[in-house]
Amino acid sequence: MKEKIWLSSPHMGEKELEYVQEAFATNWIAPLGPHVTGMEHDLEAYLGNNVHVAALSSGTAALHLALIILGVKAGDEVICQSLTFSASANPIVYQGASPVFVDSEETTWNMSPEYLELAIQDRIKNGKKPKAIIVVHLYGMPAQMDEIMSIARQYQIPVVEDAAEALGSTYKGRAVGTFGDLGILSFNGNKIITTSGGGALISANEGYIKQARFLATQARDHAPHYQHSQIGYNYRMSNICAGIGRGQMEVLPERVARRRYNFDFYKQALEDIKGIAFITDPGKDYYSNHWLTTILVDSDQYSVIDIQNALHEDNIDCRPLWKPMHLQPVFKNYPYYGNGVSDGLFDKGLCLPSGSNLTDTELNRVVARIREVVKVKKSSKNIANNPISCVTFALVTALATFL
Ligand SMILES: *Cc1c(COP(=O)(O)O)cnc(C)c1O
Repeated sequence: MKEKIWLSSPHMGEKELEYVQEAFATNWIAPLGPHVTGMEHDLEAYLGNNVHVAALSSGTAALHLALIILGVKAGDEVICQSLTFSASANPIVYQGASPVFVDSEETTWNMSPEYLELAIQDRIKNGKKPKAIIVVHLYGMPAQMDEIMSIARQYQIPVVEDAAEALGSTYKGRAVGTFGDLGILSFNGNKIITTSGGGALISANEGYIKQARFLATQARDHAPHYQHSQIGYNYRMSNICAGIGRGQMEVLPERVARRRYNFDFYKQALEDIKGIAFITDPGKDYYSNHWLTTILVDSDQYSVIDIQNALHEDNIDCRPLWKPMHLQPVFKNYPYYGNGVSDGLFDKGLCLPSGSNLTDTELNRVVARIREVVKVKKSSKNIANNPISCVTFALVTALATFL
């Protein structure tokens, strides 16, 4: 068996272990400490735009707190991009609220502003104005934020940006996650940088972030004893994880550069193949971190499954795109607004190995394997080698002559 090529594996820099050792040496082995504060400052400096950041235990926890802070309660409706990972939508249900799913547009694969507005109007007509909008910057590609923010402002609905996959991406030169009322990041093991597991909540509203830190540490009131006036959560990032995070923040620009390099590498090596398409930054306003390089396979000679199987045979990890939420059994009874764009992407899309630690040799192995599939499939459909096709060909020729 050839050596495994992973989809997106952790990639440590030089300093992570040093920061973790410092946590041990000072006995800050807790869900608070100097690295947690340091990680928050690092993120605030990196994101700019005067945002405040709360370091948390996961991206999912950050989304959950965002909805709580926006007052999402049982019986409410929250609009969510359908093409995403389930963690974008689950916290809506944690709150007893209902998701309303909105399709993607084709240029960024993110929330369609057109269907967003349709959904808002229809939900209002049904008697309930949505309490929040969750927009995702999928695979690192920024969503159409101007259009989305202007619709959200028009109807006065707060926006939560799920930037779990998009740390390092910008829209009109500004970090994604800083446009909405709140934004979230994830530092899970497969993301562009990792704390082994972790997340962050972002907002220009300092009150929101203070509230998040309070709720994330069991909502403890100021009192000499343990007193609680609200339900709290245990959602803070640990000082050990934050130590890893501080090391990762130092190499983040390199990680973004390498992911973008992977994308360019694959694109140059494969773009001549008819039936394989790449999603590129749609103009100078969009700068994707290209967390994962994805391809769309649209050919009558080979399918996305053929490529997937061939890569797996070669011990190369690859995945279909996220299956849209409106197609998930667990969400099948919730409303959906769209025209099948995300369904089509799911049918044709594939995520290629995209870790920042992949070597050129590994990238070449992926490319070679894909080119092999494309070639083999082409010749197996070669009319001369295939008796059934020969008959079909003869019939078609006869018909064409007749007509
Ligand atoms: C990873 C991810 C999350 C969840 O983040 P965790 O830190 O794993 O909880 C949420 N949304 C999207 C789009 C993600 O990719």
